[in-house]
Amino acid sequence: MMRTYKIPLTMQKAILTIAFDDGYLDTYKYGVSYLNRFSIKSTFAVPVGLIGASCERRPVLKWTHLRKIKADGHDIASHSFYHSRTTTELEITRSKQMLERKLKTKISSFVYPYISKLPKKCICDAVKHNYDSSRISKNMPVFNKVPIKNPYNVKGFCVMGKYSLPFLAKQVERAIKEKLWLIEVFHLVGKKNTKSVHRDRHYRFFMGVADFKKHVDFILSKKIKIMTQAEIIKRYGIT
Ligand SMILES: [Zn+2]
Repeated sequence: MMRTYKIPLTMQKAILTIAFDDGYLDTYKYGVSYLNRFSIKSTFAVPVGLIGASCERRPVLKWTHLRKIKADGHDIASHSFYHSRTTTELEITRSKQMLERKLKTKISSFVYPYISKLPKKCICDAVKHNYDSSRISKNMPVFNKVPIKNPYNVKGFCVMGKYSLPFLAKQVERAIKEKLWLIEVFHLVGKKNTKSVHRDRHYRFFMGVADFKKHVDFILSKKIKIMTQAEIIKRYGIT
């Protein structure tokens, strides 16, 4: 089959996606609400079976909150059903079905929990069958090229506590300079950090509200185009 690009390769663009993974209640309260002030749309990836309960012992938002996020125009992505290390084909299908039924909207983005490399073929196939794109996550800066050649191998950069604001600013500047698509993935955005479930330390993927706001203000000052995963795939994916 001939593959045609929706836009010419010469029209590469710098784009930023702000993604929130795991659906934490604090992140909704402090992160999403701050973006709403500027009408910035994020990709909000939620483990569907944990809504109204908890993920790694941190409270996850409720369906009412998720409906509000959707109403505010954000891209709701499935982040599997139970956020386990081994996502099953059933979880991939069921999480989409439940989100679509409860939110009365099409869910086109999938975000793999934990993994930094694509899983075995049957899982990838189930994702391809149900979604228009999927993202994996890395704990170091990583960039995507636009147009997107493989919408099922989109890579996100997980923002960790160890990265300073100037370091994060540098990644945004690189995306602008080299016309790349940077996905910044935030987990817990809040006033207080929590314990890690996996080790006897603080959670590594925490960002304080003040720093989050400062970073968003920096992004706005750079005037980089901000789009959701779904919007980018729809506009710059291959047909
Ligand atoms: Zn996750």
